[in-house]
Formats: sequence, C-alpha cells, structure tokens
Amino acid sequence: MRKKICIVYTGGTIGMMPTQQGYAPQPGYFAQSLAQIPDLKSEDMPDWELVELCPLLDSSNIAAAQWHIIGRTIFERYHDFDGFVVLHGTDTMAYSASALSFMLENLNKPVVFTGSQIPLCRLRSDGRDNLTNSLLIAAQGVVRQVCLYFGGVLLRGNRSTKSSADGLQAFSSPNYPVLAHAGVDIRFNHSVIGNPSPSGPLQLVEPQDVPIGVLKIFPGIQFDLFAPILTQNLRGIVLETFGTGNLPDDNGSLLPLIQKAFTHGSIITVCSQCHQGAVHLGTYATSSPLKQAGAVSGLDMTTEAAVAKLYYLFSKGLDKQTIKYWMEQDLRGELTPV
Ligand code: ASP
Repeated sequence: MRKKICIVYTGGTIGMMPTQQGYAPQPGYFAQSLAQIPDLKSEDMPDWELVELCPLLDSSNIAAAQWHIIGRTIFERYHDFDGFVVLHGTDTMAYSASALSFMLENLNKPVVFTGSQIPLCRLRSDGRDNLTNSLLIAAQGVVRQVCLYFGGVLLRGNRSTKSSADGLQAFSSPNYPVLAHAGVDIRFNHSVIGNPSPSGPLQLVEPQDVPIGVLKIFPGIQFDLFAPILTQNLRGIVLETFGTGNLPDDNGSLLPLIQKAFTHGSIITVCSQCHQGAVHLGTYATSSPLKQAGAVSGLDMTTEAAVAKLYYLFSKGLDKQTIKYWMEQDLRGELTPV
C-alpha cells in the first residue's frame, strides 16, 4: 500500500514569488507550483496531501505561536498519515525543527523539515529535489524523529544549523553525523539514527512566549551595558561564549549580573561560539566562575537547540532546579551526554 504523507506548508522561499518589496509567499500559489512537478505524480512517490497554513510566513516571523500551529497540524493528523514534511523558510528552520523535536513528545513517525534557497518559480530551484527527497524519506519511515533534509543530506533537526546564506547545501550538523545521504540512492547511516522509544501516545506541549535571550560574548564587551537586560524578567539566557565556555573576567562586572539573574530565577545556559565541540566549564579559569554563578553547561548543543529547549522546559511549567537539571540531559538526541 502506498504511504500517505502530509505536507505542511508554512511559507519560506520555496513557495515565494517576487514582489516589489522582495520575495514573499502568496496564498494558493504553492499548490499550483506543485501541480507542475511531474515527479510528484510518479507512482513511486507516496500519496501526499497539502495543508497550507495561514498566514504564510517568511520564517523570520516564526516563533512560539507558529510552532504551536505546526505542532497542532501534525498532532491532529497524526493517525491519518505515515509521516509529515514541513515546508519552512530556511532562516529559522533549525530553531523550528529543534522546537518541534521537544514539543512532540513520544513522536514515532518521520517529521522532515525542508525548504529551498531558490523559489520553485525560478530556474535552478533546489525546492523540487528537496521536496521530492523529503517525501521519499518521510515515506520510508526509517527516521522516526524530527529531522531536516536539505541539499542532499538528512540531519537530526535539533543538531542542525543554517551555515550558508546562499549555498544550496545550506545546513550542517557540526556535532552529530549525517543521518542519510541522498546521492544516486538514499543511504541511511543506520548506526547513528537513534530513533527514540516512545513511552506512550503522542503528546503536544504548547510552547509559551517565554522571555529569554541570547547574548554573544565579544572582545571588549562592556557588561554594564547589558545590566538592564540581565534582570529577573529574563527567565532564560543562552550565553554564546568563547571556546569551551570562556568569557572576559578582567573587569569583573558580568559575574555579579549573572549571579543576580540566577538568584532571581533565570536559567543561564552556556553554549560555545565554535560550531564544533562542547562546553566544559572549569577547564579554564575564565569559565569556572560561571559554574559558581549557577550557570548550566549547554555541552555540545547548538544555540538553536538550547533556545528551543528553554522554551520547551519553561512551557512545561517546571521549577528552576528541574529545568537546570534537564538542560544538561539528553532529551531528544540534542546533546552528547558526558
Ligand atoms: N527569508 C526566507 C525564510 O526564511 C529564506 C528562505 O526560506 O530560504 O523564510
């Protein structure tokens, strides 16, 4: 029997048209574009149905409320389809894929995020191949988790990051191997797929608009300027630090701020500006005070995954200590436990 895949179209370049302000999505236009791709009608393809969300968005405008809509669209159709392909703008696709990986608890079917760098309406669009391969991957059911297919590679969603603004291989997964390569054949890297084992039926956690922030450390950063931001109102902070978790400690003004934010209930998660490798608080004297100030290590999580995980854990209504604990634990394959 042919598999049935639901395509959830959220917007993004793949279905955009040129307008006077630049590329933008147009309601109804994407369905017409699909009708012009003969491959999608091939008998080797799964059956598919398109759900177009409203409004269609450039992914710069996608956040917690839209993650919820995407999650609900999947949740409500979960038993009617064998898998899902989410068409999404590339700019924040890694955030959304990370968020959905947490929000869809007990997921046991493929959810493949994809999109394109060149719209379908243009010559040389990468959208056609990305969509065709994603549909085939979703139908095969080998990878039963939230993943991201783009430019010939299948990545774990919460390990992915957009690494090229204009290349057709726009995503990478610096701290986790590729789950599959699409060359002449689609070859799965079975030993690293690591599908979770669901402990019950699918659950959808509704993400809340939690006030969180990301602060990238740079040479000469004047921490005092950030004092008005690093207050108890900020419930979570991802610090993008140097190397294995280091920051300038010679003017002494950041740590009291962090300590204060932590005492007031903020969760401070330390990630690295390096794409590859992990945070090790305490390796250098310039990182150990962070630990004393109550920060948690983001280990080898991407910033995208750390942000999405904070949204998720806060949305579950957990207390500070529990969130702190789970930030350092592997929930969906987003980090490598020490
Ligand atoms: N700005 C677009 C978006 O993220 C870029 C893309 O889809 O490639 O929606």
